[in-house]
Amino acid sequence: MSALEPVIGLEVHAQLATRTKLFCGCETRYGAPPNTQVCPICLGYPGALPVPNEQAIELAVRAGLALGCTIGRASRFDRKSYFYPDLPKGYQISQLDLPINEGGELRVGERVIGLERAHLEEDAAKSQHVGSQTRVDFNRGGVPLLEIVSKPELRSPAEAEAYLRELRLVLMTIGVNDGNLEEGSFRCDANISLRPVGSETFGTRVEIKNVNSFRFVRLALEAEIARQKVVLGSGGTVERETRSWDESSQKTVAMRGKEAAADYRYFPDPDLPAIALTDAQVEAWRDAMPELPAARHRRWLDAGLTDYDAGVLGQHPATAAYFDAVCAASAMSAKKVANFIQSEVLGHIATDGLDATLPVPADALAELLDLLDADTIHGQAAKKVFGLMVEEGLGAKALVQREGLAQETDEGAIEASVRAVLEAHPDQVAQYREGKTKMIGFFVGQVMKASKGKANPKAVKAIAERLLEPN
Ligand code: ADP
Ligand code: MG
Ligand code: ZN
Repeated sequence: MSALEPVIGLEVHAQLATRTKLFCGCETRYGAPPNTQVCPICLGYPGALPVPNEQAIELAVRAGLALGCTIGRASRFDRKSYFYPDLPKGYQISQLDLPINEGGELRVGERVIGLERAHLEEDAAKSQHVGSQTRVDFNRGGVPLLEIVSKPELRSPAEAEAYLRELRLVLMTIGVNDGNLEEGSFRCDANISLRPVGSETFGTRVEIKNVNSFRFVRLALEAEIARQKVVLGSGGTVERETRSWDESSQKTVAMRGKEAAADYRYFPDPDLPAIALTDAQVEAWRDAMPELPAARHRRWLDAGLTDYDAGVLGQHPATAAYFDAVCAASAMSAKKVANFIQSEVLGHIATDGLDATLPVPADALAELLDLLDADTIHGQAAKKVFGLMVEEGLGAKALVQREGLAQETDEGAIEASVRAVLEAHPDQVAQYREGKTKMIGFFVGQVMKASKGKANPKAVKAIAERLLEPN
């Protein structure tokens, strides 16, 4: 049998970061006591009328613009009918033929992955199984989602994971999604099939439902590829079915098959008007678009960062903005700022959704880095001062002064201590002059020790070398 290649397409449900639900004024706050954020509209009472949330429409369009979609100027809501306890109306309001965003693409490393659409829909409520009971929390019912559907253009589990990370970062950067996977703000269904390498047609796909971490998506796809290879390798056929990822066995398990495939009886929702958008409105949102992660990454590479640095600092929009703010306020090179932030600061940054808690303001860090850059303090001292800034909230200059950490830069004073060290170690001086120039480290070390670390090591080394030259 010829070699098989994976074909993967992802459907992401990203919660739009609105204050209220898609068709009513109930709050979307996560973690509220069950059934406290509900009303006749999101509970599906007969006769209750939905009113579209303008902020949700704006966020959906901004996502569409960031993803290069065609923005529908007259998109429409449709009813998707099915029966389930978490769906009180008996239908979900979604979009079928006229989605708000069509087409588009996402660059993932060297590849460009096409998108089919990114449409608006309301979330279902959440059922919770407790013993023999099922309880339903309707707080989540009616929360706005953007469903972003990729074309089947991903070719490996690792690529699927990279796509998800990049998509999440883009949506967070434009403030459309809080990126919180644990809270279910960003969920993924993964579709996967195999086909012989070189084949133009697709094999039968399996859909893996709601995998809630990037790593699990990769693991689930790897496990599913292995399973389908066994099925096809033994002459069998892959069933069109929905499976779920079982973490304990590290396998995908069947949930429901084709025979259960629903007929959703989509039709336009008669209670909702078409979403009409003017060109002026769409262009105003396009103009307000912040710099996107890919452009920022390129800008940072041009500024001297490595691909790794740019990846680490760009992981969260708040760390990215912080790095840019420190660079703008400091004379230090971007690369050195990046090094200091990565080694000393990142560990102190806590993120919560789109928010981040920073240990010290960007200006305060810039003040410290400028002291380091001007050799007023050396690297060890900068780390110490940074720790004190975090603990005490005082400025770098004040702390350097209080702790007596400024380097000795007075040439005369340094020269005097170098002379003292050379006089105290005539044997080592003789060795140096016989060619053991590595001894320079010893002399510098002695002077640094005598100065309690305050002498500028570069100056010490230069002066020691000069004094050690044969007379
Ligand atoms: P549905 O509405 O049944 O979920 P869609 O046409 O919206 O079907 O496709 C869902 C996802 O499945 C898309 O992301 C698409 O790229 C992917 N997909 C479609 N066909 C295949 C296939 N043969 N193998 C893998 N993924 C596929
Ligand atoms: Mg679908
Ligand atoms: Zn409501």
